[in-house]
Amino acid sequence: MRILVVEDEPRISADIVAALRASGMAVDAVADGESAWFSGDTEDYDAVVLDLGLPKLDGLSVLKRWRANDRRFPVLVLTARGVWTERVEGINAGADDYLPKPFEMEELLARLRALLRRAAGQAAPILQSGALTLDARQMRISLRGVPVALSPLEYRLLAFLMHHAGRVVASTELADHLYDTGNDKDPNVIEVLVARLRRKIGSEAIETRKGFGYFMPDLRA
Ligand code: CA
Repeated sequence: MRILVVEDEPRISADIVAALRASGMAVDAVADGESAWFSGDTEDYDAVVLDLGLPKLDGLSVLKRWRANDRRFPVLVLTARGVWTERVEGINAGADDYLPKPFEMEELLARLRALLRRAAGQAAPILQSGALTLDARQMRISLRGVPVALSPLEYRLLAFLMHHAGRVVASTELADHLYDTGNDKDPNVIEVLVARLRRKIGSEAIETRKGFGYFMPDLRA
């Protein structure tokens, strides 16, 4: 999962980025509205944390522009505590959830994970695909109830595929959601990661669709 953090207060931004990375996510951070608008418009994010009071372009305008441009990633808006109009305006502009400042980092993480699950069409806190379960709160993937030891990138890749079970995901798309902007995206690395994952979770768990990408069956029903 790759997240964009838009926050102009350096300490808050650094805290959020650190917490998200510690939760196994790839993170880009920007500190003004124009950069936010550009990043959200050109990069693929699974979710965005958006502060509303921003230099250059305010957060509400950024959000409205994204939505007008059909950018549909879930957006968690950070609002000033007690300013209820900000919450209403945020929701009206297309925010999926809001969090008043100051907030507990655990709450931000919980709300963000819920948005990611909802975007994947799953409401329960534990995702399931066949014999695999994903508990994002613990960053833990289990096979028939037994936790599987995964590297951070392996976890990120498998979590993304499990959030998109039932559809084919291209290597390039995987690379886009695995790395933040500072990293080179090499689709060949994906192949290596998938091979390593198959050794850990069974070769049948992730199917290769030649010329298209990777597929995990949606076996919830
Ligand atoms: Ca601000």
